Parts: sequence; C-alpha cells; structure tokens
Amino acid sequence: MTSLAERLEAIRSEVPEGVALVVVTKFHPASLVRELHALGVRDFGESRHQEAARKAAELADLDLTWHFIGQLQSNKARAMREYARVLHSLDRPSLLGALAEPDREPIDAFIQINLTEDPARGGIQPDALAAFAERALDTPGIRVAGLMAVPPISADPAAQFARVRELRDRVLLPIAPTATGLSMGMSGDWREAIREGATHLRIGSAITGNRPDPAYARTRTEG
Ligand SMILES: *Cc1c(COP(=O)(O)O)cnc(C)c1O
Repeated sequence: MTSLAERLEAIRSEVPEGVALVVVTKFHPASLVRELHALGVRDFGESRHQEAARKAAELADLDLTWHFIGQLQSNKARAMREYARVLHSLDRPSLLGALAEPDREPIDAFIQINLTEDPARGGIQPDALAAFAERALDTPGIRVAGLMAVPPISADPAAQFARVRELRDRVLLPIAPTATGLSMGMSGDWREAIREGATHLRIGSAITGNRPDPAYARTRTEG
C-alpha cells in the first residue's frame, strides 16, 4: 500500500515544469481535498455540479482553483461559474448561450473534442471545430483556453493525443492564437499525454486511489 502523499509525489516528480496537474476528486469527500491541499495541491477537478458546489462551499476557507470537467447541464452553467475558474468540457453549441455573460470575468474554457464517430458522445466533431470555435470566440464571458479530449477506450492514446494537438495547431491557433492549452491525460495515459504536449493533466484514481461507490459517497457527504 502506498500513501496519498507517495502517489501524488510519484506523479508530480514526472510532470514537467509548466504542465498543470489537476487532481480529480469526484465521489471523494471534501476531507480528501483538504488532505491534498495540505500536500500543496491547488487545482481540483470535479465532474458533477451538485457535488462540486457542495465541496466548494465546504472548503471556502482554502485557496483552491476548481476545474469543472464533466458534462454540464445548461441550466447549471451560471451556478457552476460561482465556484469554477476553468471549464474543461465546452462540448456543444447550447452551452455558449448559457455561458454568455458580458458583465463578468470570462471563464477559461477548453473546447471538448469528440474523438469517436458517435455524435451522441460528448464533444465537438473535429470537422465542426472551426465553426464552433468562431462562435465561442464571439461569446462574451468565455475565454477559449484550448482543446480537451478523452481518447476512446480501445484506441492508442498517443495517436489520439497527437490528433488533438494537430487540431489545435491547424484549426484553433490561426483564429485564437492564445488558445494554446491541451487538457488531456488521465490516470492510465498521462505519460503519453505529456509526450504529446498536454498542458493540463486531469488525474484522479492514480493519486486518490479507487473512487468510492457513488451511492455510498452520497450518503456519506449528505448526512
Ligand atoms: C474522472 C475523470 C478524470 C480522471 O479519471 P482517472 O482515470 O481517475 O484519472 C479525468 N477526466 C474526466 C473528464 C473525468 O471524468
């Protein structure tokens, strides 16, 4: 058995300078976020709005940066902005309207790319990226940060990450020169992601250990 500190340090020691490590704490209690904060972690990823909002409120005394990484319902977009500074899952046109807020500090948003042939999966199809990015750039309240993707389970992650990087360079950067970010790499493929130019890693279980069963986590944190 390794400790939380050992697992965190093992990964940190391999993450190059300038690459952000976002520790994904979904399903875990706020107390784990507090432990990680004590170990120096400041960037945390959550994928469900209610859970994230609850943890952010419970941990309001800490200096944390919350990254929203899951599918976001449009009617939760405003509330998400109350705690999250970065959105990694700008995945469909209807979110643009929901996020458009001219009077507030823009949120950093990664456009999520769908790497499968299945349009029902979350994300923008590569051939629709240019048009979608133009609309995002025209939306007040959004600052396009780059691209995000999750490789399909059966695919070679390195090839998928290279494809995302190529899309950023060829399609996004010519119209959004500051959108240099690449949010890619999870517990099983973060080394490949670093090699392919990731700027933001989203790593959960390799640091936190296995996630508790969601139903169990719910009864524990709502009590
Ligand atoms: C859960 C999740 C992660 C982290 O997954 P691990 O395999 O535990 O590292 C990263 N990105 C997204 C979008 C997730 O939902």
